[in-house]
Amino acid sequence: MSEEKLGLNTICTHIGEIKDEQFKGAVSPIYMSTSYQFEDVDVKRYPRYFNTPNQEFLSKKIAALEHAEAAMIFGSGMAAISTTLFAFLKAGDHLVVQNTLYGGTTNFIREEFPKHNIEYTFTNGYNVSDFENAIKPNTKLILIETPSNPLLTITDIKAVADLAKSKGIVTCIDNTFASPVNQNPIDLGIDIVMHSATKYLGGHSDILAGAIASSHEHIETIWNVGKNLGGSLSDFTVWMLERSIKTLGLRVKAQNRNAKKMAKFLDAHIDIKKVYYPGLKSHPQYELAKSQMKGFGGMLSFELADGLDASQFQKALKLIKPSMSLAGVESTMLLPHKTSHALLTQEQRDSLGISDNLIRFSVGIESRKDLMNDIEQAIHSVKKSQLIS
Ligand code: PLP
Repeated sequence: MSEEKLGLNTICTHIGEIKDEQFKGAVSPIYMSTSYQFEDVDVKRYPRYFNTPNQEFLSKKIAALEHAEAAMIFGSGMAAISTTLFAFLKAGDHLVVQNTLYGGTTNFIREEFPKHNIEYTFTNGYNVSDFENAIKPNTKLILIETPSNPLLTITDIKAVADLAKSKGIVTCIDNTFASPVNQNPIDLGIDIVMHSATKYLGGHSDILAGAIASSHEHIETIWNVGKNLGGSLSDFTVWMLERSIKTLGLRVKAQNRNAKKMAKFLDAHIDIKKVYYPGLKSHPQYELAKSQMKGFGGMLSFELADGLDASQFQKALKLIKPSMSLAGVESTMLLPHKTSHALLTQEQRDSLGISDNLIRFSVGIESRKDLMNDIEQAIHSVKKSQLIS
């Protein structure tokens, strides 16, 4: 079967399956061995070398989904991100990084880079000139995240990739929010794609994992550091992730549809001040999002009308979970200033436009009517309690 010609759901279901030659079972067997024969074998297998049978085969599925030559699976998204950054940056090097970034990645850069004498510049991600102006002679890597967390800003992937190529700089992207269903950055010239597989790839809020996809050459560079840092994933969880990805296309497309409808519903609602969703025509980068994404994703953020308390609203929800997780089949909401971006200072959050009233909505696969009813009743409950007090 030529992978090039296979459709998304066929890749999700069949690429990277391990054939059960012995018993002819319908799904991949799990190889839990941490010890493999070393004589007369081509590959010296060991879980920390990212090359057990389950790791090797799941990597094929993720590489196929991201249109990459190769992939690696990690114990968490942060293991994938930290290993990749350390693989391409050494003392004296410089990273240009977009400032609307997952809080944990921002924190990793701010806390760990100074210990290793690695320089960095956070820059606005709206214009390619922002990146160009931040580049220095020692810049070795550019890191972007689009759509970004939590404001869903869009970075021009191709423009950044072209700029970096013209200066011999490697590019990497956190593609977690889009998932490979909605965005394939390698087709736009990006070198390395990173995922928190805990999110859409896993999709059920029960797996912590990370992944990267790139060329054989870059994967080898990352592997050389990864085997030293030791951030690999247990084979049981690798197997669970492989199973979860079988429904990735179905889940994400359902989440895309739900999120678009929910964004329109919230946008038209009198008690909602602002909605951040790249699939709304009012989003300042709607055209750019349309040109580089195949779907607008299942994540959106919004602010309640002035005077309505976001914490109270969240507590009043009955169906939508007030949860830290995102991208699961269940809808969740959180307040970034209390959770994902709590490690940033108030000043840093203010400068990024993350207000205390901002609510991030990870839209699941539930019936839309039930989600809308839950939001209505929560708004009603907040208004009622504020009238009484
Ligand atoms: N990137 C993004 C966009 C995320 O949202 C997260 C986690 O929330 C991460 C990376 C880190 O992933 P993990 O929690 O799997 O280490």
